[in-house]
This record gives sequence, structure tokens and C-alpha cells, in this order.
Amino acid sequence: MRTLKGKTALVTGGSRGIGRGIAERLGRDGARVAVHYGRNEAAAKDTVATIEAAGGSAFALGQELGVEGDAAALWEQFDRLSGADGLDILVNNAGIGTAAGFAEIGEAEYDRLFAVNAKAPFFVTQLGVERLRDGGRVVNVSSGLSKAAMMPELIAYAMTKGALDVFTRNLSKVLGPRGITVNAVAPGIIDTDVNAQWLRASEEAWAGAAALSALGRVGTPEDVADVVAFLASEDGRWVTGQWVDATGGSRA
Ligand code: NAP
Repeated sequence: MRTLKGKTALVTGGSRGIGRGIAERLGRDGARVAVHYGRNEAAAKDTVATIEAAGGSAFALGQELGVEGDAAALWEQFDRLSGADGLDILVNNAGIGTAAGFAEIGEAEYDRLFAVNAKAPFFVTQLGVERLRDGGRVVNVSSGLSKAAMMPELIAYAMTKGALDVFTRNLSKVLGPRGITVNAVAPGIIDTDVNAQWLRASEEAWAGAAALSALGRVGTPEDVADVVAFLASEDGRWVTGQWVDATGGSRA
């Protein structure tokens, strides 16, 4: 069902992984999708082609996040490529991880984590909000690690998602009067490039990750995308300011 027909969505980091899953699902639901990427234009073009092949509409939009002026440059491109037609759904998904734990992480990497995972979503939303139509949607991709110390060595990464959660809660009150909902979706371990090195290193690593979930398997981008699609849809209109667990019961 093309329930998002006539709507426009922007998915940051929509070119790969979870973001790609979200972009493809929103495209299938009928939204025109701006597929944002950082450096990998080929991946974004491939995502656009997949959406179009399924009968949807999409365009690619490249902008490095976590650098000065990133949000303004992103919206300048969005306006140009979309025909300045406004926006209905903003998904702040782009994010980076780190292998550096509490003892190892240095200031530069800490600052970069916060710049990409917390500061960029803040300013992308702040500068984008004038384009967001009343009744619109903001979905921020958080992490199960912001509410459970399941991987305590990833403390700095978890802190960035904690900041995103606070942003989500407060922004729901700021934008609520305009009928705009703001929610966070928190994945557990998902099989994407960011995890490939350790997750696919051995059968034991895969089995250990699967065992964390109550459902006994590793998550897929589609598992998360379907939750985002609900929040983005008309059916999600009365849910706002929430942190939605999409960890497959890893915290149960
Ligand atoms: P991924 O496969 O590594 O994909 C990341 C996406 O974000 C790509 O489209 C990438 O574009 C873009 N991106 C990354 N850094 C960027 C930057 N500095 N500027 C612009 N674009 C940038 O990651 P993922 O696993 O799908 O993760 C997506 C989100 O889910 C992140 O916020 C992550 O923290 C969160 N999450 C993931 C998991 C998991 O297990 N995978 C679990 C919980 C939460 P380019 O390729 O062009 O750089």
C-alpha cells in the first residue's frame, strides 16, 4: 500500500545499511526519497535505482556530516534537487561507530563521534524544520546501547546516542504544536558494514550476537526500517517523544 504517496522523505545515511533499508521501505510506501550519503556516491545511486525499479521515486544527495557548515550545505542541495517542495519525513540515521573503548579513545575521535552522531542531527533538524510541513515526522536512529550497558567499552558511542535521545524527547515538545512527531528508534546488533569486521569474523561471533536477542538471531536493516515506517505513517500519529526498542528483545 502506497500510504506515503505525495510525501517527501530525507534519510541521512540512506545509501547503506539501516538507512538504505529505511529509504527503500519509505520508497515502497510511496514517498519520494532523498537518499543522503557521505562519500559513497555509488551506493547512494544503487539505492536510488532499487527504489525506482520497485516503482518509487528517489534522488541522491551527498554531504559529509560532522564538519562545519554541513547542515546548511545539505539543505541547499536538498532544495535544489527536490525543487524546494518541502519535506514530510526526516530520518536522522547517519552515524559512525568506534572500536576505541574507554581507555583508548582520544579527544579527536570523541569529538568526531559527537559531531556526526549528535551535533549533525541537531543542526540538520534545526535548519530543516522550516521545510518540514505541519503534521510531519522526525525519526532519529539511536541505539540499544543508550539504555543498557551491554557493551560498556563503547561508552563514548553510547553517550552520543544518549544525547540524541534527550534531543528527541525535548524536540517532541518543541514541534508538537505543529503536529510533528519526533521519536527515536533504537536498533540492537544489525548486520551492516559497520559490524562486518567482527560480526562476520567467526561463527562464534555471529552466534554470540544472535544470542543477545530474545528472538535468537541477528537483526537486519529491514527489521528496523519497518519500525521507522510505522512511526512515519499516519498510524504513528499519536506516538511522540518516545524511544522505541528495535533490538529484538536484547534488553528484555
Ligand atoms: P553503515 O552501514 O556504516 O552506514 C552508515 C551510513 O551513514 C552510510 O550511508 C554512510 O554514508 C553514512 N555516513 C556515515 N558517516 C557519515 C558522515 N560523516 N557524513 C555523511 N554520511 C555519513 O551504518 P549502519 O549500521 O547502517 O548504522 C546506521 C545508524 O544506525 C547509525 O546511526 C548507527 O549508530 C545506528 N545503529 C547501528 C547499529 C548496528 O548494529 N548496525 C546498532 C544500533 C544503532 P557513506 O557510505 O557515503 O559514508
